[in-house]
Amino acid sequence: MKRTMKSLVLTEPRALVLQERPVPVPGSTEVLIQVKAASICHTDFFTLNGEYPRCKYPTVLGHEFSGIVEQCGRDVSHVKAGDHVTCISYDYCGTCTFCRRGLHNGCRHIRGIPFDMDGAYQEMICVTAAMAYPFDSSLSFAEASLTEPAANGYSTVDRANIYPGEQVVVMGPGPIGLLALESAKLKSPGALIVLGTRQERLHKATHLGATHAINIHETDPYEAVMDITEGKGADVVILCAGSEDAWKISGRILTKYGRVIVEALPSVYDTQWPVHVFDFTAKHISYLGVSGYNAAQFGTTLELIQSKIIDVASLITHRFPLQDYQEAFETSDKRKGGALKVVFEM
Ligand SMILES: [Zn+2]
Ligand SMILES: [Zn+2]
Repeated sequence: MKRTMKSLVLTEPRALVLQERPVPVPGSTEVLIQVKAASICHTDFFTLNGEYPRCKYPTVLGHEFSGIVEQCGRDVSHVKAGDHVTCISYDYCGTCTFCRRGLHNGCRHIRGIPFDMDGAYQEMICVTAAMAYPFDSSLSFAEASLTEPAANGYSTVDRANIYPGEQVVVMGPGPIGLLALESAKLKSPGALIVLGTRQERLHKATHLGATHAINIHETDPYEAVMDITEGKGADVVILCAGSEDAWKISGRILTKYGRVIVEALPSVYDTQWPVHVFDFTAKHISYLGVSGYNAAQFGTTLELIQSKIIDVASLITHRFPLQDYQEAFETSDKRKGGALKVVFEM
């Protein structure tokens, strides 16, 4: 008799159904993982609401997860049954021009969760073995599931190429903003300023190492940054807020040769943001986009989490079993009870 498992299937936009599905059988280069933890990401809501043109339905969401390897294909050697693993959220070819340069997130044949393969909001998941990274059991499954968003924060900071002593602003202390802040702290910035609107998230930013946490509803962000940087402006702005206001502020608070790293996505797919061209050229500003992380950045992030240099535990605010998915999504979406990271535990 075929084994079955519970899967939270998104049959079409806004239609989540808990279904009984057959457990997949791993191919020769794949691993079957028993999911232990999977955390909700802000981008899940784009897919849930049908706002990602790339997404095909039905699909299973959940690209931030960890679990126990149950079965390996015959050509898999770097992990074995019983290993605790967390995974990158996409598969790459390894041989295209971008993969050859280590830029796996730019792979020309990239296949990602939940666009081209099912995610982890289910009891078992089958993925290409190269996506799986083992960790030791001193790290909890819930913490390990946050390696994926932490790797996004890490790669965002990598893109900024921060020199020691530079003055860095993180706009938007959501989960990725806070995780980027932790990675930026490792670069020894002169100031690490967080701009946000929610007091509890600004408190969290201070706890995680921000030198200044400013509520832009109470204090003018331009004045505040100029004050802290003694009239110079910030060298780097890490943009983890997807509003046009945040975009405009980021250009204004930069100093000459400043960089804006754009990680956040606006809520509407076809959004266009204006640039003040005179400022842009006169200040020699660089705008750098970033999406995801490469395989090395994911591995390094996992090591930093495993050795407690990056704290992910502080971001976990809520835990739910999979069957309480409606409450879990609502908690995350509406940020109920100060929700930051909401994790499914199986
Ligand atoms: Zn995510
Ligand atoms: Zn490739």
